[in-house]
Amino acid sequence: MTNEFTSQELRNIADAGLLRKLRTLESPQGPLIRLENREVINFSSNDYLGLSQNEELQSAMTEAVARFGVGSGASRLICGNLAAHDQLDQTIAAFKNTEAALAFSSGYATALGTLPALCGKDDTIILDKLSHASLIDAAKLSGAALRVFPHHNLDKLAHLLKSTRAKSSSTRILVVTESVFSMDGDAAPLREIVELCETHDAMLLVDEAHGVGVLGPGGRGLVAELGLEKRVPLQMGTLGKALGVSGGYIAASRGMIDLLINKARSFIYSTAPPPAVACTATRAVEIVQSVHGDELRKKLRENLNKARAFSPHSSIPHGGLKARAPLAAILPIIIGDESVAMQTSAALLERGFLIPAIRYPTVARGSARLRLTLSAAHETIQIEGLVACLHDLMSKLGSTVEHPLQEPAK
Ligand SMILES: *Cc1c(COP(=O)(O)O)cnc(C)c1O
Repeated sequence: MTNEFTSQELRNIADAGLLRKLRTLESPQGPLIRLENREVINFSSNDYLGLSQNEELQSAMTEAVARFGVGSGASRLICGNLAAHDQLDQTIAAFKNTEAALAFSSGYATALGTLPALCGKDDTIILDKLSHASLIDAAKLSGAALRVFPHHNLDKLAHLLKSTRAKSSSTRILVVTESVFSMDGDAAPLREIVELCETHDAMLLVDEAHGVGVLGPGGRGLVAELGLEKRVPLQMGTLGKALGVSGGYIAASRGMIDLLINKARSFIYSTAPPPAVACTATRAVEIVQSVHGDELRKKLRENLNKARAFSPHSSIPHGGLKARAPLAAILPIIIGDESVAMQTSAALLERGFLIPAIRYPTVARGSARLRLTLSAAHETIQIEGLVACLHDLMSKLGSTVEHPLQEPAK
């Protein structure tokens, strides 16, 4: 029974061209990795500043293991709350300029704990359609009514806020968006969203998973860059991407954080992260804000500009348009068809470049893409090699491809 069920399901997935398999790195994370016995240049990690290999962080983790051992032994509310955990919370709050913050074991756990702590069956959660799976899963888990607005569609968001508020003046409404979207690399119109939320008395959660470390003064994210820190009640993020370590967080008011400590089930019912991870993440938050952090962001920006040198072959219809400056470290190459995206990714791998195809269900059906990410750790020659290879491959694919750095055709 079990075997039949699993093989049938797997066949269905494979028939749809959607079967996924794990690939194993035989090297550390980085721009140059060893994958299945080959060296390849990696344009797919979220280690945007290269901090996963930072030597100071490596020492911080080793020293913390020597001092505290490996595990926390309990959830934070029982007896697993070490000084290292408090220190991380406080460091994040200071970094984010908020009264308080709370670290979770991952960004996914942060979402899953936070949304259901704030909203229940009498409430409404309104999400941008392209929100990350963690936010969607969390919204579903909360039992609140779910409303979705098309990506960046402020009119629709305004309409949803108005109609929800019209039904009840007391119902809780939570609007959820990413700052930089994980699969498109574009930014939410945060100023307008903040204003709409204030007008209709809705809470707002902004997930800065791809903004923190990369954007804003001291890498504090897009919310800080736009001067909206005091007007976004819940700033979420991960410690596993630009920060290079592991974990997630909410930065918010003291009252909000105290509520999460009491109600966020992924926080309450889960063993506290290893103290060494908390110590290392604390140091990572400090590095991100430092002069060295500024240097890494400058290097990342230079690398992004080099990648822009990839201008599409003239057979691609948007070839003549002005390139848009990349906002953050994510440059999607939209291909559309799932199997063409897979083939292109395979062709790139063949030539020594790892850029995975992202397809349904991570993105909508028919919007399969290559998700190209840059890091401060990339070397110029690696980016130039990629640009040359993309030129070659894209000219073969021709007009089926939308260029990542061009405005889409209207
Ligand atoms: C990666 C990601 C998360 C989850 O963070 P993890 O720390 O990897 O669990 C949440 N939201 C967005 C937008 C992400 O890209």
